[in-house]
Amino acid sequence: MIETPYYLVDKAKLLRNLRTMQFVRERSGARVLLALKCFATWSVFDLMRQYMDGTTSSSLYELRLGREKFGGETHAYSVAWADSEIDEVVTHADKIIFNSVGQLERYADRTAAVPRGLRVNPQVSSSSFDLADPARPFSRLGESDPARIEVVLPMISGFMIHNNCENEDFGLFDRMLAQFESRFGPLLERVEWVSLGGGIHFTGEDYPLEAFCARLREFAARYGVQVFLEPGEAAVTGSTSLEVSVLDTLYNGKHLAIVDSSIEAHMLDLLIYRESAHIEPNVGPHTYMICGKSCLAGDIFGEFRFPRPLAVGDRLSIANAAGYTMVKKNWFNGVRMPAIAVRELDGRVTVQREFTFEDFAASLS
Ligand SMILES: *Cc1c(COP(=O)(O)O)cnc(C)c1O
Repeated sequence: MIETPYYLVDKAKLLRNLRTMQFVRERSGARVLLALKCFATWSVFDLMRQYMDGTTSSSLYELRLGREKFGGETHAYSVAWADSEIDEVVTHADKIIFNSVGQLERYADRTAAVPRGLRVNPQVSSSSFDLADPARPFSRLGESDPARIEVVLPMISGFMIHNNCENEDFGLFDRMLAQFESRFGPLLERVEWVSLGGGIHFTGEDYPLEAFCARLREFAARYGVQVFLEPGEAAVTGSTSLEVSVLDTLYNGKHLAIVDSSIEAHMLDLLIYRESAHIEPNVGPHTYMICGKSCLAGDIFGEFRFPRPLAVGDRLSIANAAGYTMVKKNWFNGVRMPAIAVRELDGRVTVQREFTFEDFAASLS
């Protein structure tokens, strides 16, 4: 038995999403790039690259990881590039997408050899949570003035927009795309490609895939562009769990169980977005608050039901541990970093990476 804590990526579950992406590629003509900021667990890239076209990035390091570990088409995007990195960016990138006209102009000469794009901010988004809303007031994420964008058209061949966030509603996606078209249509006719970013939950159950693909096809034909999608969460949703063990149980007005993990260290988004974890099937007469072992008072995975009382040594499987989870793990409290394991398609579980005291020490000096 593998020692806890560990993240477990299940390739069979991942494959369900990958097959959907393959369907969308074929049916819509869009090219599909994995957004590495969401998921960069490269030990499963061997499987993923068979169903996706490549990767997109948020930084030089993600760009290089995409080039070296995934291959295929490699897009470079960053909110801001630095003088010290732009020459290396050019060596890894098939396309460079600039966040602003200022950056595009600053690096025009040094990036002349690579196709370039510009991030456009359509000023509408599907997110109402301002921390994650690219269209929030005064947003730094992309250019929004068509007149300003038109001036630099000779330097670019495409646009990137990213204004969806876990959007499961095709109707909303469709309406937002129409708003983008009505405002930027004349510019769209003058570029060769458009990336519609991530945040479209098209691998979710009951998503109207045919309508989605038809909409993408129609968009591509209307402007004569190659469409790209940049799924992060949609690519990996439901594929991974965090496996933990109960270290102690207490009763303080509620039944508590402390596990060998921590939300702040190993599932940070639960803390940032004030969400509860998921433990299935979550049925039975015994309710426990599942708590992390860091010293943060609010280090709580959530409250769950169990068929029998929990005991020290019991194992629990916390769902939804792929997107924005492994990429954010940290050494807070020196809590043992979860290993990374993969369940292969034949059912064998292999440990890909374990982290030790030396890794903890090496993360600081
Ligand atoms: C975050 C991000 C993505 C991926 O978003 P998901 O919600 O994980 O699909 C894609 N493109 C850009 C530019 C992003 O910032």
